[in-house]
Amino acid sequence: MSISGFFSRSEITQALRSLQREWVVIAIFSMVANLLMLAPTLYMLQIYDRVLVSRNELTLLVVSLLILFLFAAMAFAEWARSRLLVRAGVRLDRLLGERVFSAGFARSVREGGGSPGQSFTDLAEVRQFLTGPSIFAFFDLPWAPIYIGVLFLLHPLLGAVAVVFALIQAALAWLGHQRTVEPSESLAKAQGRSHAYLNGKLRNAEAVEAMGMLQQLHHRWALLQARYAELHAAAQGLTHRITAWSKSVRYAQQALSLAVGALLVIDGQISAGAMIAANVLMTRALAPIDQVVSAWRGFLGARAAFFRLEQLLQEHPPLPKISAAPRLQGDVQLRDVHATAPGQVTPILQQVDLHAPPGSLTVVLGPSGSGKSTLARVLVGVWPVSQGELLFDGQPPTAWSHETLGPQVGYLPQDTVLFGGTIAENIARFAAVDSAKVIAAAQCAGLHEMVLRFPKGYDTPIGEGGRLLSGGQRQRIGLARALYGDPALLVLDEPNAHLDDVGEAALLGAMRQLKERGKTVVMVTHRAGVLALADQVLVLQNGQVQLKGPRDEVLAQLQAARQAPAPSSAAGSLPAPQPLPA
Ligand code: ADP
Repeated sequence: MSISGFFSRSEITQALRSLQREWVVIAIFSMVANLLMLAPTLYMLQIYDRVLVSRNELTLLVVSLLILFLFAAMAFAEWARSRLLVRAGVRLDRLLGERVFSAGFARSVREGGGSPGQSFTDLAEVRQFLTGPSIFAFFDLPWAPIYIGVLFLLHPLLGAVAVVFALIQAALAWLGHQRTVEPSESLAKAQGRSHAYLNGKLRNAEAVEAMGMLQQLHHRWALLQARYAELHAAAQGLTHRITAWSKSVRYAQQALSLAVGALLVIDGQISAGAMIAANVLMTRALAPIDQVVSAWRGFLGARAAFFRLEQLLQEHPPLPKISAAPRLQGDVQLRDVHATAPGQVTPILQQVDLHAPPGSLTVVLGPSGSGKSTLARVLVGVWPVSQGELLFDGQPPTAWSHETLGPQVGYLPQDTVLFGGTIAENIARFAAVDSAKVIAAAQCAGLHEMVLRFPKGYDTPIGEGGRLLSGGQRQRIGLARALYGDPALLVLDEPNAHLDDVGEAALLGAMRQLKERGKTVVMVTHRAGVLALADQVLVLQNGQVQLKGPRDEVLAQLQAARQAPAPSSAAGSLPAPQPLPA
């Protein structure tokens, strides 16, 4: 793709373009501020060459009042452009925030990598650079030639000195760029690795503490951190060296321009006033180059963040809005489905066929690692189908949008993760809480009485991740969340793993109700109780369907395989058949 094609299609550049009005006004204010920067030069010329010569105090008063007014105007122009920049930053956030959030989220679900938080940090970095003070250096830079032009007007030699120093500054900036691009990128990567490592371990703080793993983990983190510190020191060292060089060039320029001015005064080519004015002007002309040099690292960081965001938004385009989606009846079909974990190549599921009509309960069995949870994720569209078809009511899931399909699907993942908020908010999936629906879902999950025993009932906060609850309580709230809004399809991944007898009985009651109401339920479980209600059973082995069919047939085959004395046969590794309750 050509660079122009890339930019014309990019969402961020489009967002930046929609801020065109702000940029133009900022450029105009920058122009005003920069033109007014010439005022001190003119003022000095007036003082040295007119006031001091004529000794006219009235002229001094008038030019001083004028310069004060111009300074006030300059301050206003600078204040106005800063305010506009802040406003542009807020608008940029508003334009891109939601997109970056959903794209970052989609990436972490589909590819299993990158946290949505990183995307927001990237957006903040781009915004801070584009709307922070460093950007002014770039707005002021085009004015440097104009100041240099004025210097040429004062005397060609002064202009030539300015050009030489501008070239030296530019060469230093270029050298700095060449030498900092790579260290900056490695630094960002090392920082990311160190943070990701630390965050991952903090999440498992309890296990780390209980098993005394801190030392070993610290050792590994220290290695990552040392690498980061090393790169950081190298990058800092480079920046400081370049800044130091740039500074000394600036001082040399101030001294030499004065010397050249003095030479011209001695020669009688310019006045003393012009000498002083030229000195001030030259410093002013070269200041933006100096600022650009110091803003360079920020620019590189923002540029890298910009490209990361570009890539993120390009790889995860906005989903089409489908408003008139059909209502889901709950007929689910998998045809020759292959599926792979995000970011992996080896397929976990292969050639899986399944038909679950409305009102049916399908139980999925299989040993650990056989692909049961993967099947559950594929059924709810969390992981994509890499080959084959997933059909809801005979149509691919793309016939619905996330917003229209999500509420019609209930999913209870194996590790029930709740969010910081109240029980009611969690059950209501963080949409506006509909009390009647929340209570209906809780009752169906057999949770209502338990919730009422909490001090604040449904309004009890459960802490981030539901950490104030027990595993079983979390799972039951997760089940109520899956049942909320009467979804047509329920996919439950070991919903009874943490349940006691009361919870299990409640689950069975819920399954019975769901079947009667024509809902489709697919459940991964090892417990015998639910098998009694199953219409069909699917047995997975190494990601493939080992057995499938009506419950009694499959269970009979499992029983037979278990009794057959053939330990080397594939059936030997089938899950142990569960005794059916009477
Ligand atoms: P089950 O639920 O039957 O225990 P899973 O569906 O969780 O099995 O896992 C099936 C296989 O897929 C396992 O071999 C596991 O290593 C692999 N797997 C599961 N999740 C991921 C993942 N996020 N990335 C890569 N491989 C995965």
